[in-house]
Amino acid sequence: MHQPANAAISSIYYDYTVHQPWLPSQHPAQPLHPVVIAGGGPVGLTAALELARFGVPCVLLESEQQVCEGSRAIVFTRRSMEILQQVGVAERVTHNGLPWRFGNSFYRGQRVFRMEAPHDDNDRFGPMINLQQQFLEQYLVEACEANPLIDLRWGNRVTAVAQHADHAQLQVDTPEGPYTLQTEWLVASDGARSAIRSLLDLKLEGASYEGRFVIADIRIELPLPTERLAFFDPEWNRGNTVLLHREPLGIWRVD
Ligand SMILES: Cc1cc2nc3c(=O)[nH]c(=O)nc-3n(C[C@H](O)[C@H](O)[C@H](O)COP(=O)(O)OP(=O)(O)OC[C@H]3O[C@@H](n4cnc5c(N)ncnc54)[C@H](O)[C@@H]3O)c2cc1C
Repeated sequence: MHQPANAAISSIYYDYTVHQPWLPSQHPAQPLHPVVIAGGGPVGLTAALELARFGVPCVLLESEQQVCEGSRAIVFTRRSMEILQQVGVAERVTHNGLPWRFGNSFYRGQRVFRMEAPHDDNDRFGPMINLQQQFLEQYLVEACEANPLIDLRWGNRVTAVAQHADHAQLQVDTPEGPYTLQTEWLVASDGARSAIRSLLDLKLEGASYEGRFVIADIRIELPLPTERLAFFDPEWNRGNTVLLHREPLGIWRVD
């Protein structure tokens, strides 16, 4: 039986909400749905809102009961902002995020490059804006919950998929046990290690490389502008690369 964590994750900058799980015993038998979306990260939540914008109802299944854990995406580009505007959350991101467009690269202590992203007065959004992924997901979740075309089910994990000529049948596990769901279309937005891709024996094509990163969010007041800092082979950390970004709420992200 699927048992997602139901204690709030601790964080130095984000107050987690634990959402109530959706339980099959509290709902009537399931009809054939036009669309089921598996995975309520940024992609699944945005897909649900985009479908609703075109009048298409969907069921959105999210395995966990909270938004994402830890430090993940922090930089959103202008193009992402345009998509977020379409689904109605760009204003909250702009209001709470930190815009920037300059970056500095240092090699062994010397600045070797200054990036200046182009920006025109007619651009609707700045080139980049920094905001922790938890806040973006929260805004998307709240938009989904306010939309009657979206049935967001927390604590619902897809465990099996069977494809038929005109529909797919899903096994979904919940904190009170499994149920089945039928859908004309299934959107797999269950992340980089997609269980659905594995269940369907699909391969993600492309190149990959090995690297080890340490990522830390640190609360510290630094008298520096909101600009990206990249240190290559610094004398205080030889052989390594260190990236620094200012995030909202007095946090600096160190990669
Ligand atoms: C440590 C780290 C640092 C990162 N830093 C950056 C960065 O600086 N900038 C940047 O742009 N990106 C960054 N990323 C990448 C960014 O977080 C991802 O690109 C983004 O989260 C992808 O969104 P998604 O919706 O595709 O998948 P995810 O965010 O992974 O969401 C998938 C969702 O599906 C759910 N799920 C999984 N399996 C099932 C299932 N079987 N049934 C139902 N639900 C399921 C999961 O619980 C999750 O909520 C980072 C990622 C990590 C891990």
